[in-house]
Amino acid sequence: MSGSVWDQALAQLDQAAGIMNLDPNVHEVLRSPKRTLIVSVPIRMDDGTVRSFTGYRVHHNTSRGPSKGGIRYHPSVTLEEMKALAMWMTWKCAVVGIPYGGAKGGVVVNPKELSARELEALTRRYASEILPLIGPERDIPAPDVGTDEQIMAWIMDTYSMNSGYSVPGVVTGKPISVGGSAGRRTATARGVMYVTVATLKQRAMPVDEARVVVQGYGKVGAPAVELLSEQGCVVVGVSDVGGGVYNPRGLSPVGLAAHQAETKTVAGYEGGEPVTNEELLELECDVLIPAALEEVLTADNAERVRARIVVEAANGPTTPEADEIFHERKVHVVPDILANAGGVTASYFEWVQDLQAYFWTEDEVNARLRRVIEESYIAVLELAEDRKVTMRQAATILGVQRVAEAHSTRGLFP
Ligand code: NAD
Repeated sequence: MSGSVWDQALAQLDQAAGIMNLDPNVHEVLRSPKRTLIVSVPIRMDDGTVRSFTGYRVHHNTSRGPSKGGIRYHPSVTLEEMKALAMWMTWKCAVVGIPYGGAKGGVVVNPKELSARELEALTRRYASEILPLIGPERDIPAPDVGTDEQIMAWIMDTYSMNSGYSVPGVVTGKPISVGGSAGRRTATARGVMYVTVATLKQRAMPVDEARVVVQGYGKVGAPAVELLSEQGCVVVGVSDVGGGVYNPRGLSPVGLAAHQAETKTVAGYEGGEPVTNEELLELECDVLIPAALEEVLTADNAERVRARIVVEAANGPTTPEADEIFHERKVHVVPDILANAGGVTASYFEWVQDLQAYFWTEDEVNARLRRVIEESYIAVLELAEDRKVTMRQAATILGVQRVAEAHSTRGLFP
């Protein structure tokens, strides 16, 4: 049985530190988040009562620049999870070479149980409570599980009202009308698509007809299904929290999207047979893309996973035990901090455009995104081959190395 995701994140850091002979003094600094904030978020519900929710914002490290990381609204949010996700953001930003540190935030809430007014009140109060930590030069939130563009717009407005002028650069993943970037909405999925295609080619597997299974049909999973289908891949299985569908001959991305738009779930789509989320992960396929939550690939099911490649669109979907099993079984894992880095890369582009008040076309965003992701993929692959380590170890080593270098160059304050 594995520990918490924070233990998982620490174990990955410790392992990378061992392989790369990291200075123990730097290692000591990187093992703890720089700061954590726990806030209480009281709001008036529609029935007139007051309910108080718990929120967090964690900054893991800011050696390379302001911290960056999503905000999650989910009932299972914990401080440990936020710490792990913030640490992974630090390595992720370093792996793709963007000038940020890592952060994460969240509220323990099921946003689907709130009315639109309650959700806005929750967001504005949470934003007010974390106000001392965020800002375009300090820490820039973005959407994650359970949050969206509208929520980012409310955070941007709350921050701006407190500043007395509009500050679009305080969050990314905003609607275009308030300073969002073209291409941001699909950027995480686009990055997933670039690394999936690069991995298939590198392993001499045809992209055309590659059978793909995607767990999670949200902001990342849904566009990933569409973009991979455009590349010629055959998406044979898809699921969300409501259940999944499977068709060995392929699911229609258009039919699936229409069904989901109507019913709010992919479960019940008539173009395939129903499968549970557990069964979905074990389907016959070439590429498995977890795009929902952490710790879904574990010691309990890793032996039965039939994919040859796992591309981690979600953060932390594979436990260290499952990682070990995949390594022994030669299942090639493309780690989260590389595979889903398209989101933070496009967020960086959004922030740059906000600061310059000069906006790029979608083609410009996509071309720059592609270059960053493909170059990062090659850097991680070369390091993995050079050091004879897994892609996850290579990505972590690359990220830690860059952060350690910035930290050591700046020196330890005071
Ligand atoms: P989302 O809320 O838009 O979608 C999450 C999806 O997962 C939904 O389809 C939901 O039904 C499904 N889901 C939830 N619980 C599930 C369960 N128990 N079993 C199966 N499916 C389940 O979230 P998202 O933004 O798409 O994020 C998904 C993952 O990608 C997360 O790990 C997130 O941290 C990561 N990620 C997101 C971004 C981004 O830009 N949104 C960037 C990098 C990484």
